[in-house]
Amino acid sequence: MPKKWEIFIEDDNTPHLVISDNGVQRVPTMEECERAVSILGEEGSSVIRLHCRNTECPDKGKGWIERSRIDASKNMYHCDVCGKPMER
Ligand SMILES: [Zn+2]
Repeated sequence: MPKKWEIFIEDDNTPHLVISDNGVQRVPTMEECERAVSILGEEGSSVIRLHCRNTECPDKGKGWIERSRIDASKNMYHCDVCGKPMER
């Protein structure tokens, strides 16, 4: 089961964004939070950033490219360093 974002609601009805990891809710890591903030920040923008998410790539977390939303939905871009597809 893949990781996905969910809402955890405390007893006092305070909502929190959490990660469901194999069906178990946990607090997101800093990297997951940064990714979520980046994607949410692009809402309404026609430009999105694509990053290499390959954990074994030396370029992970460093390089990124910006493409128009339409362009990124039509084309697959690959990391210059490891060749894996780049993701949001
Ligand atoms: Zn890479």
